[in-house]
Amino acid sequence: MEKIQCVRGTYDLYGAAKRKAKKVISTASAVVEKYGFEEIETPIFEFTEVFSRNLGDTSDIVTKEMYCFEDRGGESLTLRPEGTAGVVRAFISEGMQQNLPVKMYYQGPMFRYERPQKGRQRQFTQFGVEMLGVATPQADVEVISMAYEFLEKLGLEGAVTVEINSLGDEESRNNYREKLVAYLKSHYDELSEDSKVRLEKNPLRVLDSKEECDKKVVAEAPLYSDSLNETSSQFFKDVLKGLDLLGIKYHVNNRLVRGLDYYSHTVFELTTDKLGAQGTVLAGGRYDGLVAQMGGGDVAGIGWACGVERLAMLLEQDVDLARPIAVIPVGEDVNDKALEIAYKLRKAGFRVEHGYSGNLKKRMIKANKVNAFKAVIIGSDELAQGVVTVKDLDSGEQKSVKLDKLVEEI
Ligand code: ATP
Ligand code: MG
Repeated sequence: MEKIQCVRGTYDLYGAAKRKAKKVISTASAVVEKYGFEEIETPIFEFTEVFSRNLGDTSDIVTKEMYCFEDRGGESLTLRPEGTAGVVRAFISEGMQQNLPVKMYYQGPMFRYERPQKGRQRQFTQFGVEMLGVATPQADVEVISMAYEFLEKLGLEGAVTVEINSLGDEESRNNYREKLVAYLKSHYDELSEDSKVRLEKNPLRVLDSKEECDKKVVAEAPLYSDSLNETSSQFFKDVLKGLDLLGIKYHVNNRLVRGLDYYSHTVFELTTDKLGAQGTVLAGGRYDGLVAQMGGGDVAGIGWACGVERLAMLLEQDVDLARPIAVIPVGEDVNDKALEIAYKLRKAGFRVEHGYSGNLKKRMIKANKVNAFKAVIIGSDELAQGVVTVKDLDSGEQKSVKLDKLVEEI
């Protein structure tokens, strides 16, 4: 350890930023629970293969972003870079196939070795959902509408756009891959070195490249929509029809592919122009082949994940805490009574700030600073008669209140 500070790309989350992050998570949980999703917590690290075999061996995550380490027993482990692989691993290892559909959500830290910048951290929080066992387009519509409702509840519906595309089924993908490879080969010299490798290993990945030279080539590439077979294009139409029905606005983006290998049919992203280059706040898609690929049989899947910190940055208003009551003892001899009164008020459900030192004036200043709405002032003479003073800090009005009537009065 060099200095007393946290590792590059990691942050201490506290105060207003933490309150916003908490609000993002509590809003998301409340929305998805209405759709029947239940929380699952999987371990923060898994066997490395859980990710390396399933996210795709040319994906950015697997090639350059994973935190892998060998533990003392010689096992290769990895800090989770995303949530889906771990949840599907749990689905299989816990035998959840018996009772389909399975609808789960998760939240927690993810780890990626990336270049830190605004909205891009090495430890960040994701909230995500996974629906397993429903292969029909209605599931896509439901899962996307859930994402939309969640952002609406956060007050962001005007700030985000739903981008959507279809990658089709395996046949469509093979169709498209052939056309794409032919096209990319005719522009081979213009591609980045990484994309030359991708062209050999996984040409679809070139579409997702962030390099300027690749983007130019990709702009003229064949369109995915022209390669969808009948079944796939009908599936996509049904998804869009469902979104229309619910009045959810979207933009069909023919260039949208997702960075991981496991996607098929619908892929989508909710983006904003308010975060610079880090515009994607929520992303997901259908992954019908993943469960089988991981050895769990033929079970369809669809889900999304959002970046909690990115969403929190979009919340303009501070998240207010409940205003407290300030309990203010005047003189040493009433300290014990003040402690008792604070305890009683807290048990009755109030947030109570109990100033620990200073004279009356100092404590009143403190009470205003914490934005208290009432002050309970406890003096020994009054106390002898069983009363305290309750001051309304907004109106300045004050009155004597019997101790046993205090909770009711406030
Ligand atoms: P990007 O293109 O920005 O790298 P991605 O495709 O790698 O995103 P996903 O794996 O789809 O991202 O993750 C879903 C969401 O998680 C993203 O839309 C984003 O909001 C958030 N996210 C991903 N990586 C980071 C990161 N390094 N720091 C903060 N949030 C992140
Ligand atoms: Mg990324």
